[in-house]
Amino acid sequence: MVANDSPSWLVLDGYEDEPAAFGVPPYVGFHIRYVCGVLEQHKIEYTYKTIDQWRLLAEHEREQILRDLEGFVCIAGAVVPGRYIRGTPISQRESTELIRSLPRDIPALFGGWAVRGWKQQGWMPLRSNLFLAVQDTDATLNGFLNTGSWKHERRTSDQWTTWAHYGAQSKAVLQHPDLGTEEKSGPLTYEVEVYQGCVRFKRGCKFCIEPKKGVPIWRTPEDIIREVQLAHDAGVQHVRLGGMTDTYTYMAEGVKELEYPIPNPEPIAKLLHGLREDERLKILHTDNGNPSIIAENIEPSTEITKTLVETLSDGAVLSFGLESADPNVHAANWLNCDANQLKSALRLINQFGRERGERGLPKLLPGLNFIAGLNGERSETYSMNLNLLHELRKEGLLLRRINIRQVEGEGFQEIPETEFKKFKSAVRDEIDSPLLQDLFPLGHVLKDVHWETHDGRTRLPVHLTEEHIGEQVHGRAGLTFGRQIGAYPILVGVPYHIPLESSSDIMITGHGARSITGVEIGLDINTASGKQLEAIPGIGKKAAWNLVSARAKLKRKEEKPSIESIFQAAKVHLEPSILSVFGDK
Ligand code: SF4
Repeated sequence: MVANDSPSWLVLDGYEDEPAAFGVPPYVGFHIRYVCGVLEQHKIEYTYKTIDQWRLLAEHEREQILRDLEGFVCIAGAVVPGRYIRGTPISQRESTELIRSLPRDIPALFGGWAVRGWKQQGWMPLRSNLFLAVQDTDATLNGFLNTGSWKHERRTSDQWTTWAHYGAQSKAVLQHPDLGTEEKSGPLTYEVEVYQGCVRFKRGCKFCIEPKKGVPIWRTPEDIIREVQLAHDAGVQHVRLGGMTDTYTYMAEGVKELEYPIPNPEPIAKLLHGLREDERLKILHTDNGNPSIIAENIEPSTEITKTLVETLSDGAVLSFGLESADPNVHAANWLNCDANQLKSALRLINQFGRERGERGLPKLLPGLNFIAGLNGERSETYSMNLNLLHELRKEGLLLRRINIRQVEGEGFQEIPETEFKKFKSAVRDEIDSPLLQDLFPLGHVLKDVHWETHDGRTRLPVHLTEEHIGEQVHGRAGLTFGRQIGAYPILVGVPYHIPLESSSDIMITGHGARSITGVEIGLDINTASGKQLEAIPGIGKKAAWNLVSARAKLKRKEEKPSIESIFQAAKVHLEPSILSVFGDK
């Protein structure tokens, strides 16, 4: 339903998605919240819609919203809109169409990294009173509301706090489709901005935009904790600390003078423990780490690692940007982490982080990023990368994820296709696959998997209907996919239907290339369907059918036959591992 008869603004969340700024559902990004924060501060009526909600509106509903519109703001922050499970970022084509459909002359503002990228590539939609922000969209909007004219603007640190706090209780949170209700909470994860910039601002990695932001600007622990408290008041339960190019250099010492600033354990501990003091906080994850800074400052980094392990939820990932193991590439691109530094940092994180936590995941693990297409790259680069990965495996070091990104365009060089393809498939077969089995061993239990889609890996509008979320679908034929809440969760597939937007615990029964299969634990032998029984290792299709028919016969005599009697009547051997699925240890 659309109820919008009085004039107001429309805030369209086209989603942002950067390594340090997650904003595709179930995440709610910080830039869209700051925009809403500005409107809240100015006491301006507005409607918040995600781009996925907008796409689903009927023509007349859109027209109704547009008819009374006083102004329009959109954040488009996913430079290459990829495939996501829960949402699809706005594309350039959609943005152009939207601009055409807006009422004449109302102010319209587009911001976000995608808009900057499109603009550089020549995107110039023609319309009066349209402004494409290349600095801070929120500050630009604030300037317009104050003066009536458009100008690129940056927010001050006071404005940062004000809009972050207003934004925490804005419609971007309260009306976000993933917030859920008091009775049934959703998977909404609140991305909070901790700081801006990178300590390598003077001579940073050549391909990176962060150094352009200048000396890093930190928000204080108190300011962030207050923002998150406000978000909790609005119903938020899960938080990721984003906007950190390196978790270890938050408020570090010697940022202006040193190549490797000295991590400061106190402020990050204050922030993390302060956030944990609020019992409403459930999942807490963090952002990237810089392995060279960790390696060059082992003592304070050890202290910070211990704090992270103590306060974060299990499954936390620190993404390390190595980018390349080739010294040639390092020199040509001003990278600052070599293989030895990387190994020291990986050892430290593994030492404290590999122990498993409540949800069945290692508490804190590193991720590793490679970039293909950097200057100085040659065919040997890929064998160096692969050798390094083999060395890490040999040492038994765990990595949660290896991300290989391909960059193209100005400032990058052509990628040697054959070597690159060989590298990617060797990583998949020789490194990723055994790692997945170490991290997610067969028979291991993972808790609180949130179910998101049926029969495919993309959530469709129909998945939100009773036909897919109702309890009656449980056990029906088909596939269900879901993930645990938090950063970089593994995709879990189950070979029968489970009501979507619900959660359950699973036992791991198999491995895919980048996913695992499982079966729910705690199944009831008296209600489990044939498909559910078949999903349990040790029970094949025929045995499942025998169990269902034996159960039907026994049920004529007693209401709830025991698991033993059903298995005996069906002549199926009751292994201890099968018992554990039924929660009957
Ligand atoms: S260390 Fe990371 S954030 Fe800093 S310049 Fe290099 S890639 Fe960018």
